This record gives sequence, structure tokens and C-alpha cells, in this order.
Amino acid sequence: MTAGHTACSDLHGVSESEAMKITGVEPVVLGFELTEPVRVSFGEMVHRYAILVRIDTDAGISGWGESWSNFPAWSPRERVYTIREGIAPHLLGEDPRQVGWLHDKLGRRLAGVARQWGAVGPISQAISGVDIALWDLLGKETGLPLHKLWGGATDLEVPVYGSGLGPGAVRPLVTPLLRSGVTAFKLKVGFGEEADQRNLMEVREQIGPDGILLTDANQAWDLTTALRMAALLAEFDTYWLEEPIPADQLAEMARLRAQVPFRIAGGENVYGCEGFRRLLDAGAVDIIQPDICKTGGLTETRTICSMAAARGVPYAPHYFGSAIGLIASLHLFAATPGGWMMELDANPNPLREELGGDAVAPKNGCLPVPTGPGLGLVPDQRIIERYQLQIGR
Ligand SMILES: [Mg+2]
Repeated sequence: MTAGHTACSDLHGVSESEAMKITGVEPVVLGFELTEPVRVSFGEMVHRYAILVRIDTDAGISGWGESWSNFPAWSPRERVYTIREGIAPHLLGEDPRQVGWLHDKLGRRLAGVARQWGAVGPISQAISGVDIALWDLLGKETGLPLHKLWGGATDLEVPVYGSGLGPGAVRPLVTPLLRSGVTAFKLKVGFGEEADQRNLMEVREQIGPDGILLTDANQAWDLTTALRMAALLAEFDTYWLEEPIPADQLAEMARLRAQVPFRIAGGENVYGCEGFRRLLDAGAVDIIQPDICKTGGLTETRTICSMAAARGVPYAPHYFGSAIGLIASLHLFAATPGGWMMELDANPNPLREELGGDAVAPKNGCLPVPTGPGLGLVPDQRIIERYQLQIGR
């Protein structure tokens, strides 16, 4: 604890009896092997992982968060050590209720090593998991669901689109969500013109002319290829094209955006307010897609979304993980103006479905925002034990 913080606490009259201290910061790694890999244009996932973060306190309350870890396959091992050895020492003994202050402290303390290591992403992903857990703790301590804590709408239902389709058979993934009232779907492209065309045709045929068709190239193309593919995407009435080219080629993205008849989306590989400021300044996208488990947690993402809203740019939270991060994203959406739709992975994943239960099963194309304190979801210990992987203990 810094001298400055102690002085402020004294000024506000926080007594010892009201104090709460962090006693543990523990990564909880869940995972399982896929029978059918999830493929994207740059690689494939043969496992699904979820790096949950549990923060314990001397008050007996724990908070849960999630840190993004879809790539590379060894990221769970890196993240466990980053959280235990890089993050936890800065939090132990602190009062968890000062979420914004702790988020700022972690950013300041770890910025240097992140640059030196060349690991801005992993450090930001680790901070994200911790930040979400701290917010969950504050919600539980105050008895309020996060979206109410932030003054958000009550009884809100968040519209979702189904994602993770292709390049294999898309029909089995689209059908169950269509039955749940979902009318927007995102297809992965960048697998060659023939495969992309076949899948575009199949999705459009299945969702009909009124369905919303989104596409995601996962940075597969260069500007020339993206411009060439644009005609095909327009033919199938693409609503947006996501990450058509490498995410850091902002000037090229802005040039592409000026020449195509559909929206350009991106942001899942952009870090922090500064990264999103550059993205917006470049005029590179029509809609931003921050991922709360990557870009700095709920604290950073709320600021990012407000920054975009001030420029008239909507956001659509990126998300492709377990129930914890998905539900945290729903609270963000309910309390932060400018949201368009929330991403919902169409692939079967027990780390989302078993852990989240009915809370992550869409009805009428929407997910309800949980009403319990904090995230409104306490992970079932039996499910955690079923999928938990022991790393480094
Ligand atoms: Mg994407």
C-alpha cells in the first residue's frame, strides 16, 4: 500500500473494522481437448481453455474474472505465472473495493516490463482477468449487479449474434441459434475464394434475406486481396467485414473502408484506450470490438466505449471464451451506451454452457443481464473440478 493511499483512506475515515484486504489472487485454468478443432484463417484451436481468476479476501468474499487465452496453445502456462508472479504481489493486502485505483496501479507498475518483454497483450490480458474479478467483488460487497452499480438499464436483454461459423459445415451451428431467435451470424472467411463463397451462400440461404450476415477474415488478407473479395462479400449483403487485414495497418484499413459498400469492424487485437484512440483517429473502422478479457478489463473497456460513443462510433463486445467473461460483457453492455450486439460463440463449449447454464442460453435472440450481486454468476465448484488443469503446483 502506498503512503498516498493510506493518507486518502484516513481522510475519508475508513476504520480498521471496515477494511477489507485481498488475501489471494489465483488463476484457475479450465480446459478440454476438442474432437473437432476450431479453425480460423491463421491457425486452429485443438483445445478450449478458460483462464479464470479468483480473488479472495479476508471478508470471506471472492470475486471471479477471466483472462483471454485462445492463442497460442501454451498461453495457459504463461498466464498462470504472469498472474501469480507478476500481478498478485501488487494486489495482496490491498482493499479490493478501490477497483479503478488498483487497475491504474497495475497498469503503471507493469507497463515497463510489458514493453521490455514485448508482451503488452499478455500483460493486458492478465490485468483484464483481475479487473473483472475486482468488479465482481465490489458488486457482491455492495449487493448490486454490476450494471446497476454503474447506473445501467434494468431488466435489459442484450441482442446477440452467433459467431465462430466455418470453414467446416456451418448449418449445424446456425440451426440451434436460429431456433433461439438469433437472426445475425458471423462467418469466418479467408480460406480461399471457393470455400468462402460456398459458406457465404450456405449461411445466407439458411438465415434468409432479412438475416444479418457478418464476416471475419481474422487479418488474413492484404489490401489488394480484401478489395478483390469485397465484391463477393457485397453480393451476399455483408453487414460488416471484421479484421480484413493485419490489425495494425490502420491507414490501409481506412483506405479499404472508403472503398467498400459495407462496414469495417475491428478491435479484438487492439489494447487499451491508447490503441483504440489510434484506431478511431485513423478512421479505420465503423464499429469497435473491444474484448474485456484482453484489452484491460471492464474498467478500461468502459472508457474505450465512451471514447467511441463521443465520436459516434458504436461498439460490439468481442467475446469467445467461457461463461464468466460472457456474463461480464453483458453487464458492460447494459451499462454503457453505444452497444450494437453481443457476440455469442455458436460452437458447443461446456466452459460456457455448463458453467453459465440458462444465463448463457439465448431466448428470442437475446441474453438476459443477470440480476444477482456482482456478475450474478458464481461458478459451480463441481464444474470447475471437472475441467480444471493443474499448472505449476
Ligand atoms: Mg474476430
